[in-house]
Amino acid sequence: MTFIEALESENIDQIRTFPKADLHNHFVLGGSREYILEKTGYEIKPISEPLKSMSEMDAWSGKYIGDRFNSSEGRKLLIEATFYQAKKDGVTILEIGEDVWGLGAFFNNDIEELINAFKDAKDRIAPEIELRLQIGLSRHCSIDYLLDCLSHFWGHKEFYSIDLYGDELAQPIENFIPIYEIAAENGLLLKAHVGEWGTAKDIITAINALHLNEVQHGIAAVHDENVIDYLKEHKIRLNITPSSNVLLGRVPYMAQHPIAKLHRSGVDVTINSDDVLIFDSDVSSEYLRLYQSGCLTAEELDEIRLKGLGKI
Ligand SMILES: [Zn+2]
Repeated sequence: MTFIEALESENIDQIRTFPKADLHNHFVLGGSREYILEKTGYEIKPISEPLKSMSEMDAWSGKYIGDRFNSSEGRKLLIEATFYQAKKDGVTILEIGEDVWGLGAFFNNDIEELINAFKDAKDRIAPEIELRLQIGLSRHCSIDYLLDCLSHFWGHKEFYSIDLYGDELAQPIENFIPIYEIAAENGLLLKAHVGEWGTAKDIITAINALHLNEVQHGIAAVHDENVIDYLKEHKIRLNITPSSNVLLGRVPYMAQHPIAKLHRSGVDVTINSDDVLIFDSDVSSEYLRLYQSGCLTAEELDEIRLKGLGKI
């Protein structure tokens, strides 16, 4: 059976057997519900109806996550749960990493301990997965604070990329230029969350200011042909998370998800999970939902899958 046939027969178990990349995954919320239940006896319930505001998402987070995993053991459990989840999903390239503040909070300010927490979990649970270790920044933190945290990260070749997330409107993207300059010197792949809550113009501003290689979300680009052309010409990849966009009210229905127009316009897009524990999805389900809604054809979905894996 091919991936196209698995989609056409709407067989999720078969879809899960095919290799996929997950390049947009926040590991704290990326784990397997089942694994966490088994290890802790604690059940995390996903949302099923679209949220009306970000405060509803914060309320969900407060209720189900809160400070329950705020310890070295808790954090390591969530890392393990993420590898377990990815393996079950057929993910073969997984890009995840820790928030920079987590180094002091959970890993005794010991960068080797943080790196090893990810490597050890991978080796124990899913050695076949290619781990792309990421450095994570919250957009609401002050630049001085972030630079201070980052001083422990620079120079460690284990890191593959850097990403900026949190409230997209918290502070101007230009504030992060000094950080991204150092990240570029360190050879990191440069990413940021833009164009989820912001506009198409915000995407271009961010790419120009930070010299981004890839954009997390970037779906607002669909509203501006010039931005679409720019992304195509500059080969900027968009790592898209369809269910998250629908459940956060960024897109009204899966059938209307901008990924179809972006892909058909020649923009490099990938399909990813974002937050498995909140949105009750995984990468395989994202492919199936896009197929079932008629948003993309099975052939198009296979092309996106293979591109994400670097196979075409
Ligand atoms: Zn995200």
